[in-house]
Amino acid sequence: MKYCFNCKLHFTEDVSFCTQCGGSFNVKYCSRRLHLNPVNAKYCKFCGTSDMSKPNPPSSLASRGLQSLFIAAILVAITALFLVLVHLYSMDALPPRIIVLAMVIAAVVLAAARR
Ligand SMILES: [Zn+2]
Ligand SMILES: [Zn+2]
Repeated sequence: MKYCFNCKLHFTEDVSFCTQCGGSFNVKYCSRRLHLNPVNAKYCKFCGTSDMSKPNPPSSLASRGLQSLFIAAILVAITALFLVLVHLYSMDALPPRIIVLAMVIAAVVLAAARR
């Protein structure tokens, strides 16, 4: 099953182009011989033409979804850390300040690295 993210339509596996917008599905085809190329190709790897089909953007959408998933995971981690600290504080068992600082720095570094 192939899906056009532009037109929100499903197509069978043997379909190479969306019938509504002419986009190809996560691949590029050159316009000369319909050579199959990776979606990030600028020139056809078989005949060298730059005249390629316009792919639909499922890969960029998918990576954007993954990115927001990572951000959500980081937010959950930071919230959990905060809850643990609040819990420890309410029990008057807050760890030494240097450990809290290290945990906060680790969380910030993790958040920055994921971006
Ligand atoms: Zn389409
Ligand atoms: Zn070609």
